[in-house]
Amino acid sequence: MLYLVAGLLGLCAGRLLVPLIRAELERAPVRSVMARRPNCDCPVRPADYAPLWWWAGSRGSCSRCNRPAGVFYRLVEPVTAAAWAGTVGLVGAQWVLASFLWMVSVTVVLSFVDLRSYRLPNRVLVPGVVVGLLLLAGGALLDGRIGDLPEALASGLGYSVALLIPALLTRGAIGMGDVKLALLLGLFTGYHGWETTVAALVGGFLLAGAVGVLLLALRRITRHDHLPFGPFMVAGAWLAIVRALASFNS
Ligand SMILES: [Zn+2]
Repeated sequence: MLYLVAGLLGLCAGRLLVPLIRAELERAPVRSVMARRPNCDCPVRPADYAPLWWWAGSRGSCSRCNRPAGVFYRLVEPVTAAAWAGTVGLVGAQWVLASFLWMVSVTVVLSFVDLRSYRLPNRVLVPGVVVGLLLLAGGALLDGRIGDLPEALASGLGYSVALLIPALLTRGAIGMGDVKLALLLGLFTGYHGWETTVAALVGGFLLAGAVGVLLLALRRITRHDHLPFGPFMVAGAWLAIVRALASFNS
């Protein structure tokens, strides 16, 4: 029941993230994107605000202009719903829950934007980190775990510094956006111990390497292409947090 409610709330949150992602990809103001249907440029209708319905109601393409919704944007709501249900299930009734829901929502936006544009925009990163830190600190205080915050901060800085060196040396494969994303991910993984941050870092590199080798083998990319690194860092951090909390809860 709890998972169902969290999943439904996650679907609604995902519906809000769709125009945020589209605004970043089209470099358009959020307000102008919100005035249009999620999948095309027709004016938005009241029914479009329901998650999934904006494409499911018309079988995936706009009934007026026939533009297909595309798999990319249709994935946002289910991914967010699954992330919210998992977060609620694992973090449970703690005050820090709000901060972790914030973190997964911000990282969903960043991952989708990075996948398509190879950018991690400051317009999302800066509020993501600042609000995330405030929510985590407030939650930790109310949970009586404020003592864990210094380790979280140190882990965030540590993860950033670990990426700063390759970012400065490689010019491209790892960017300054990844360094800032590492601050956010290090903060939230480090709240469960610095080992969790190390697991997130290692997991991110392993996932990126494995997918890279697979895509090379399938000839989907060449050796000169590079993959966006952000989504792999996010996946590594999510998995590290799941592992830390699952072993803590059992
Ligand atoms: Zn349309």
